[in-house]
Amino acid sequence: MCFFLYFCALKCKKRFVMQISHIEHIGIAVKRLEDAIPYYENILGMKCYSIEEVADQKVKTAFFMVGQTKIELLEPTSEESTIAAFIEKRGEGIHHIAFCVDNAENALNEMGEKGVRLIDKAPRAGAEGLMIGFLHPKSTGGVLTELCENPNK
Ligand code: ZN
Repeated sequence: MCFFLYFCALKCKKRFVMQISHIEHIGIAVKRLEDAIPYYENILGMKCYSIEEVADQKVKTAFFMVGQTKIELLEPTSEESTIAAFIEKRGEGIHHIAFCVDNAENALNEMGEKGVRLIDKAPRAGAEGLMIGFLHPKSTGGVLTELCENPNK
């Protein structure tokens, strides 16, 4: 067993309180929503049910429902948007995966205690009224990971 896995196994034995109920959404970076939406609607047959600008994150989002999971398309609204930087560096494509948790604040605290590098130390408002926080991909095997809580459930 490699040392890294052994180390993980030791860490994972610690108490585990956070419960992930499902994949809330998959975030996909696109240059322009109007160019991307027709693929999802006309080729895959999904329906875009919401377009929302999240000024805080300098993105415009479009949502599709697949079972209880959403596809979230993210278009940068500014050159300073992290989505613009992502597309510049890696091109369009999957940007992050978001897990639904009961309590985003507790989940972020728990991740921090377990040594995960946090992008958000406390939850903030995301699209669709969710409270969200990101984990750094350096601590998550290269996958930008978002934890979301739906306060309206
Ligand atoms: Zn997201």
